[in-house]
Amino acid sequence: MDKVLCPGRPEIYQTHKRRAVSKICFKEDVKQRIQRTITKYDMFKPSDKLVLGLSGGKDSYVLLDILSQIHNPDKIIGVSIIEGIPGYNKPEDIRYMKSLARDRGIDVIITSIREYVGETLYEIVEHSWKSKLNVSPCTFCGILRRRILNYYGRVLGADKTVTAHNLDDTAQTILANIFRGDIIGLIRQNPIFRYPNSKFVNKVKPLRYVYEYEAALYAAIDGFRFQDTECMFINQSPTFRAKIREMLYRLEAENPGVTLNIVKTVDDITSNMINRGFIKAVDLPLCVSCGEPTNEGRSICKLCELLGKVGIRSPIYQVNFKEYARIMSIR
Ligand code: SF4
Ligand code: ZN
Repeated sequence: MDKVLCPGRPEIYQTHKRRAVSKICFKEDVKQRIQRTITKYDMFKPSDKLVLGLSGGKDSYVLLDILSQIHNPDKIIGVSIIEGIPGYNKPEDIRYMKSLARDRGIDVIITSIREYVGETLYEIVEHSWKSKLNVSPCTFCGILRRRILNYYGRVLGADKTVTAHNLDDTAQTILANIFRGDIIGLIRQNPIFRYPNSKFVNKVKPLRYVYEYEAALYAAIDGFRFQDTECMFINQSPTFRAKIREMLYRLEAENPGVTLNIVKTVDDITSNMINRGFIKAVDLPLCVSCGEPTNEGRSICKLCELLGKVGIRSPIYQVNFKEYARIMSIR
């Protein structure tokens, strides 16, 4: 599509490409970009079993819709995690996502932070406030969602876990690593970087070169029902990441295409470093407390450390066995 002029009526303006295309060509462009990204970085093979992290938002919808067209739906299982945040109608969004997945022949397991840890995200954050721990709710949320997705990926025997992080999310992570001076963290963001650890299911992000505005347009064209409530923690004490997000939005508005250039340039540099053996993926150590993979140099994982600090000493750490058994019985 990139080289061919759209023959249809111009309906969608792609700011970063400075061109207007029809809705059909726009959707095809997004789909082909995702397919090229998967192929270029060998994200998964046709025979691979995939576990998709589905949050219930527009990015998840795009991931679900396109993967159901380009990968065998029988080899895909969705996992949706309810955080447990008052006023946030996540359960409703997730039930909606589950019905969209069912229409595409994909099963979704619905689980929650409470199921895994024994407390909701809000309860954990309350403990954190009481302990005067200066940790953002989003930090707990992010660590827990990554952990739960990996846990399900492993118990369901997935070859890869797949998340719907878009280009804007990816650029924010890359810049955060650069601003912190964390070169190893930066290289780990490269899509060809894989861990050999058997307890860690490697994660891939096929929407890496799709702008957030493109995912929103794609979903809107399909009549996707957008979330109408926001998480209560979203604007709380802006994190470093939130400040980067604001800065990037401003830069992109003044220089369309800059976000894509940042991610593509860093991907090229870090791919080169990996191919030249600058960094070797090592077996991740296992946490002495919960047995899950943790970062190099750690004996206790960040999750056990944080939960211990807020007074949750014996988290449950388990899957939703009922849902797990249901999915396994139909496969
Ligand atoms: Fe989780 Fe933060 Fe997003 Fe709320 S805003 S859902 S706490 S990551
Ligand atoms: Zn642990």
